[in-house]
Amino acid sequence: TERTLVLVKPDGVERNLTGAILARIEAKGYRIAELKLVTPERSVLEQHYAEHEGKPFYEPLLAFMSSGPVVAVVVEGDRVIEGFRSLAGTTDPTTAAPGTIRGDFGRDWGEKVQKNLVHGSDSVESAEREIGIWFA
Ligand code: ATP
Repeated sequence: TERTLVLVKPDGVERNLTGAILARIEAKGYRIAELKLVTPERSVLEQHYAEHEGKPFYEPLLAFMSSGPVVAVVVEGDRVIEGFRSLAGTTDPTTAAPGTIRGDFGRDWGEKVQKNLVHGSDSVESAEREIGIWFA
């Protein structure tokens, strides 16, 4: 089985969508292996978003991500990396497909930051790297 790092971002926690998001993950058959509520330190976010450093949305994204608590979850299951990204939908909640987390619940979008409710690792390498950052 595979592992992925899922984050319920500050907009998801603030809007009380954590339960609805976790329910979809569990209903799909994935298992919650670790879970914590945390307001991330800047150093954690710098590591997590290292690939985006220098992009126009980088600083707004870090500000948004440290604006309140997030729920960090290690989720396990067969092909869970691809499977969770499919549950989440595409990055922009405006055009994310209905039936996905972002498509159904996402409503805050902007030029500088996409408040798109969740994060999911995009590869086995990213998943292991990100789990190490959030669950050091
Ligand atoms: P995530 O990694 O959060 O699951 P993703 O893989 O769809 O989403 P990335 O390209 O890794 O998105 O970007 C990380 C996050 O940065 C996005 O989820 C979004 O919040 C923000 N972001 C990415 N691109 C943009 C953009 N062009 N404008 C504003 N925010 C952006």
